[in-house]
Amino acid sequence: MAFGKMGAAMDLMSKMDMSKISELAKKVDLNELIGLVSSLDESTLNSMMKMAKSKGRKKDLPAVNGDFFNITETLTDNQRKIQAEVRAFMEAEVEPIINQYWSRDEFPQQLIPKFKKLNLIRHIFNEDGSRKEDASIVEGIATMELARIDVSTATFFGVHAGLALVSIALCGSDEQKARWIPAMINMDLIGAFGLTEPEVGSGVAGGLRTTCKRDGDDWILNGEKYWIGNSTFADIIVIWAREEESNEVKGFVVEKENPGFSVEKIMGKIALRCVENGHITLKDCRVKEADRLQKADSFRNTADVLRLTRAGVAWQGVGAAMGAYEKALAYAQSRKQFGKPIAGFQLVQNHLVLMLGDVTAMQQMCLRLSRMQAKGEMRDEHASLAKVFTAARCREVVARGREVFGGKGILLDQHIARMFCDTEAIYSYEGTNEINTLVVGRAVTGLSSFV
Ligand SMILES: Cc1cc2nc3c(=O)[nH]c(=O)nc-3n(C[C@H](O)[C@H](O)[C@H](O)COP(=O)(O)OP(=O)(O)OC[C@H]3O[C@@H](n4cnc5c(N)ncnc54)[C@H](O)[C@@H]3O)c2cc1C
Repeated sequence: MAFGKMGAAMDLMSKMDMSKISELAKKVDLNELIGLVSSLDESTLNSMMKMAKSKGRKKDLPAVNGDFFNITETLTDNQRKIQAEVRAFMEAEVEPIINQYWSRDEFPQQLIPKFKKLNLIRHIFNEDGSRKEDASIVEGIATMELARIDVSTATFFGVHAGLALVSIALCGSDEQKARWIPAMINMDLIGAFGLTEPEVGSGVAGGLRTTCKRDGDDWILNGEKYWIGNSTFADIIVIWAREEESNEVKGFVVEKENPGFSVEKIMGKIALRCVENGHITLKDCRVKEADRLQKADSFRNTADVLRLTRAGVAWQGVGAAMGAYEKALAYAQSRKQFGKPIAGFQLVQNHLVLMLGDVTAMQQMCLRLSRMQAKGEMRDEHASLAKVFTAARCREVVARGREVFGGKGILLDQHIARMFCDTEAIYSYEGTNEINTLVVGRAVTGLSSFV
């Protein structure tokens, strides 16, 4: 028996690295250690071995990617190429400078020549203002990529290439389209869209106070417009006004040099501070009949423009949420507390998974919306539901993202604070959450809550 034990011990010792044992003996009482370890059960010992083996080995963390269900794979090669170009542009040209401009309430003008080089609008519109076959998908994916880094930049683009350009494309004569659209596609002319007024926001459909009156070959515009994005520097501003005589809404392309036109920048916003929103005053502002949008005869035409652009705002929510998720995940992987990355804590993982679920649902909804739009199947309530859903989800995602950053989440240089603030604007413009809810409510119940 004793010989048996001795034999086993000799066998064990022949396999052991004696230099390591003597190192260990310097650190702990070997007898005590062996006593303790031998009293443990097998499963505890196995987990201890696993832990000890993994310690010190640098684990490769998964790549940060907010496209969990791989929507990119469902795109065509050309759409993927455009997506990659917009992503590279935003990461290289916008992200490094945007916080500085955001804190100054200023749009970075140097981005305009860079946007020209990117040539994004050419992938969406033809020179005559008609849309490319896959315009809705390209516009959606591109907007997601713009907003993934910065919602102000996405809004600058959406106002120019969406609201302003689409107004002319849908409501302009052939001559007017030829005059303005190619220059807008090239971004030689920058556009703005003036519908909202200081006293009239959600109720624009029936209540515009800005008036227009025919005077020979001219029209005379009087009134005020509020919140008008890009209007402090835009070359042309689409102004919607109610004709005094007929009470119908008409659209005009007003140049910033028009007599009677003036604009003041709205200061002190807590969201989208790089979008220059203006308070426009029109005082006996003279506009030529040739500059009146020839196919805009009533608010129905204005609504057609808004229907087309609302999908774009839904995509802004997707992009902002995707950006916030990616920023939060990257931070959680690198930030250590209690000796390990905070991404390893269950409550932080809960934040990240809830964020990712929202982002993924938003992506699927908007991609389907854009595909319906491309086939001409999208109705007002479809765009409104997407806007309601994505704006609300985005608001929650950015708030969770901010939380993952702890105190640093309120610092501009981490980017998440800017996203957190900017999301508040997505929630309220292009139809507030309530108004879009009522549009969907009317469609599904068959009963309108509007007066
Ligand atoms: C950053 C930013 C950029 C913008 N850019 C532009 C632009 O470029 N061009 C432009 O024309 N406009 C622009 N807007 C204006 C925007 O479209 C309006 O802010 C929006 O339509 C809401 O109008 P309001 O702010 O006057 O709110 P209000 O209409 O005064 O609404 C105030 C509150 O009352 C609620 N409410 C109103 N009516 C109802 C109802 N019937 N039932 C239930 N609730 C109701 C609203 O949902 C909201 O919560 C911009 C706004 C912002 C914030």
